Amino acid sequence: MRKPIIAGNWKMNKTPAEAKELVLALAETVKDADCDVVVCVPATNFAAVKEAAEGSNIKLGAQNVHFAASGAYTGELSADMLKACGVEYVVIGHSERRQYFGETDKTVNLRTKAAVAAGLVPIICVGEMKDEREAGYTDILVEYQTLMALHGLTEDEIKNVVIAYEPVWAIGTGLTATDEQANETIGVIRKAIERKYGKEVADTVRIQYGGSMNPKNVKGLMAQPEIDGGLIGGASLKAPDFTAVVMYNK
Ligand code: PEP
Repeated sequence: MRKPIIAGNWKMNKTPAEAKELVLALAETVKDADCDVVVCVPATNFAAVKEAAEGSNIKLGAQNVHFAASGAYTGELSADMLKACGVEYVVIGHSERRQYFGETDKTVNLRTKAAVAAGLVPIICVGEMKDEREAGYTDILVEYQTLMALHGLTEDEIKNVVIAYEPVWAIGTGLTATDEQANETIGVIRKAIERKYGKEVADTVRIQYGGSMNPKNVKGLMAQPEIDGGLIGGASLKAPDFTAVVMYNK
């Protein structure tokens, strides 16, 4: 049985004071969650979130990581730097990074390897654009993105990775994949992992859905057998909404 994992992606939102307030509230409201709970926050909020989450079941995540260990990469953060701040998870290859910051499948792979080597759990985002779905390329695209991201990792390392299937047309738009669409495409991703790395790895790796997941649609999505959690943008910014998503089975 895979333990579900629900992660908030705060994107470029919240000051340290706001971050502290939100996490202190969540520490109370999600303490009985049956899933792993993560908040992926701007680096300026690492210290505030770490302090507010102390003693709770809320884990700290980052939103990106550089693949080099150190050096002349102005503005970037290495995996060891994240780790030293108490970060445990890191989002890699989010569609906004692919769209606005030149992220490619190759750099997603480099970042994933750096994260894993440092002992971070990568949350690797894959997903198709609207026109790619309409043209019938969803399956081939998510298979390629996933396998490229995992290339060079060992089977044991892959078991510990989290994949987030995020149809780009559903992110921040209020449009959600139907329960069946999300389940089917996540099944395609799992099958691709099975073909390359075997059934045990495929059955172990956790694959989230992301894309306008919210208190209203979470139950239906989480009832699908392939869906092991969610990556939540907008609905992770308010304590009542994120609580309702995380506590979907209560
Ligand atoms: C995301 O940022 O990964 C995301 C899924 O955003 P939203 O929930 O707002 O669609």
